Amino acid sequence: DSAAAARRIAEALAAPIVVGTTEVRITASIGISVFPVDGSDAESLLKNADAAMLHAKEQGRDCSRFYTASLNERAVKRFSLETNLRKALEADEFIVYYQPKIDIPSGRPSGMEALIRWRRADGTIVPPVEFIPVAEETGLIVPIGDWVLRKACAQAVAWAIRGLGPLKLSVNLSAAQFRQPRLVAGIAEILSKTAMAPEFLDLELTEGMLVEDSANSIDILNELNGLGVGVAIDDFGTGYSSLSYLKRFRLDALKIDRSFVRDLVTDADDGAIVKATIALAHSLRLQVIAEGVETEAQLQVLSELGCDEAQGYLFSPPLPAQAFEDWLIARRRPAPLLATARS
Ligand code: C2E
Ligand code: MG
Ligand code: MG
Repeated sequence: DSAAAARRIAEALAAPIVVGTTEVRITASIGISVFPVDGSDAESLLKNADAAMLHAKEQGRDCSRFYTASLNERAVKRFSLETNLRKALEADEFIVYYQPKIDIPSGRPSGMEALIRWRRADGTIVPPVEFIPVAEETGLIVPIGDWVLRKACAQAVAWAIRGLGPLKLSVNLSAAQFRQPRLVAGIAEILSKTAMAPEFLDLELTEGMLVEDSANSIDILNELNGLGVGVAIDDFGTGYSSLSYLKRFRLDALKIDRSFVRDLVTDADDGAIVKATIALAHSLRLQVIAEGVETEAQLQVLSELGCDEAQGYLFSPPLPAQAFEDWLIARRRPAPLLATARS
């Protein structure tokens, strides 16, 4: 009965509403809890219906979901993760790892991507997939993202001063950060405080973030361009892949998602996709970076296809700052010098 009622509510809401001269359409995400199994009083029924409603939103919105006990367990876990993330920021438990990017024609390191890790008090390292989504939902990603940008810029400047460059720094931006009204002002402030040259910074965004509110995205991208920082599309090919946005948005680079690179050598379809993406990007004057390059064979194919840069375990996994620096120095030392040093 309640499912049928939910359907009727959704149908009633689906009818377009005229506001002034525009027609507005809304959808509903509906959560359902049932007395007495899901709660014996109004308060717990509402709380559980709310959890079910959030679940409906997660599953793509515009649908209804029943409450289940496992939803509650998840809510408790999530709440404790949120509390821990807040504490982690205060206790300085986040660290930035750096993964090199290689200029394919010369084989030289061209830059590095900053990738966050959470080092818990007990020493365990938590990967970003396990906490970025919650940080996004709770808005904590904004202070965390600011911290990453500041830390990585300061580090990039320190390396430049020590003559380890020129290296371009890439930093990931999440949707919540991108939609922040103070985004561009905040970045400008960090650049100036860390003395980072804007042309050495690239921000990595995903397709979905740009398409969601494209008019606004165009403005933000123009402002970022005015600031002098570059913008790259991360995980290209996994999102909307609407080609029209590539033309409308002011972009500098595409990063081909590692799912296409993985079977590049063995799967003709993936090979065709990578080839087409590189050709498309170049015709739009965008740089192309291949993600997740793990083998020489993949690098060889990418090089033949004219891909500009590569990133992946073949060169190095993401490393803590000191280890990245050691990697750079070891790699840059010319071979004859190494031979002399050894003899
Ligand atoms: P991403 O930006 O696409 O980063 C690339 C991911 O691929 C990294 O995972 C990296 O460790 C991994 N990777 C690199 N080379 C290889 C390879 O050869 N093989 C395989 N299998 N994997 C490779 P990581 O560091 O776990 O980061 C995952 C995602 O978390 C990132 O994907 C990014 O979307 C997000 N992320 C990381 N740091 C930040 C941050 O500071 N802010 C935001 N908003 N998101 C971040
Ligand atoms: Mg990235
Ligand atoms: Mg990526």
